[in-house]
Amino acid sequence: MSSKQQHVKLNDGHFIPALGFGTYKPEEVPENKPLEAINLAIEAGFRHIDTAYVYQTEKDVGQAIRSKIAAGIVKREDIFVVTKLWCTFFRPELVRSNLEKSLKNLQLDYVDLYIIHYPVPMKPGENLFPEDEHGKTLLDTVDICATWEAMEKCKDAGLVKSIGVSNFNSRQLEKILNKPGLKYKPVCNQPTIWKKRQNCTSLSLPLSSLLPKKFVSTLKSSVHVECHLYLNQSKLLNYCKSKNIVLVAYCALGSQRPKRWVDPNSPVLLNDPVLCDMAKKHKRSPAQIALRYHLQRGIVVLAQSYKENEIKENLQVLEFELPLEDMKILDSLNRNLRYAPAPFGEGHPEYPFSDEF
Ligand code: NDP
Repeated sequence: MSSKQQHVKLNDGHFIPALGFGTYKPEEVPENKPLEAINLAIEAGFRHIDTAYVYQTEKDVGQAIRSKIAAGIVKREDIFVVTKLWCTFFRPELVRSNLEKSLKNLQLDYVDLYIIHYPVPMKPGENLFPEDEHGKTLLDTVDICATWEAMEKCKDAGLVKSIGVSNFNSRQLEKILNKPGLKYKPVCNQPTIWKKRQNCTSLSLPLSSLLPKKFVSTLKSSVHVECHLYLNQSKLLNYCKSKNIVLVAYCALGSQRPKRWVDPNSPVLLNDPVLCDMAKKHKRSPAQIALRYHLQRGIVVLAQSYKENEIKENLQVLEFELPLEDMKILDSLNRNLRYAPAPFGEGHPEYPFSDEF
């Protein structure tokens, strides 16, 4: 089975597929669904799987990968696995233990990318969302730079290929970049090359259309953030490009709208009339246009689905191109609407979403 994935070559020698498969499971989704979906995603051609300790889907990711290796569909090195350090493990002495738990769940020796999930530390302990008797999140005080140093040690130990962050704003990224003694700088000056990997099919598109020349990263750092047509993160993207940091978009389809995190009165992204008209014009689906928009801005994009037809449809975003005038129209849909403001971190000095970007 070949994969249609396109990869970004990183200057540390690793590759990240430009399109990733998300595995967050809202409470309302049945337990058996993630494994089923991840199996379908790998069979369809996804080679970048995004999970997290807190999603509790790591075991499913590991099981799916093992079964596809056993079936001869992929080799371990074909799959780019991302998982995340949860907020209750930010104290430096706890970082490696969280990673080891993740590796055990995944039944892997290493992950390709390990990222700090969200910059607000929470009280360590068994409970992943520790709360006081009034339901208020119990936060912690940890210098994020000390957490980063512990992440660097995980890379040195060979447990992760690359390290990065998620939900950091530009100020927090700057803090890491300016950390005295920073070992793995989230900056590099080598151009990124889109490359056809062995066993991967090539695209009919000119390579230059996929990413701006300056879309580069060592993937010694990347930043995963909410990013979609209604929150297009143009300022953070420019900042990241200036620092050669890869931006990875989540909620690119407007999120799964889990009751716990998303206001049910917020507008449904994929119903946007301008997006739907454009999709009709190109004989594509609104989801495909919404994903393609990010690829053409030089963003690595995650897509989540539990349906086979949608999983396959989402992979087809690698097969067409939007003209510049349509990209401009899509730019104009931005309304700085954040679907998942993660209110549990509010009140902490490191709550990331109060800053402009
Ligand atoms: P997305 O924005 O990817 O949206 C998923 C929703 O879109 C699902 O409800 C899905 O429906 C629907 N959908 C998918 N494909 C199509 C299609 N072709 N046509 C129509 N509808 C479609 O969701 P998420 O918010 O979950 O984000 C994706 C991933 O990003 C997560 O799974 C997770 O891995 C990661 N993430 C990371 C975060 C972080 O803090 N770092 C935070 C949030 C997410 P259906 O299921 O019915 O197919």
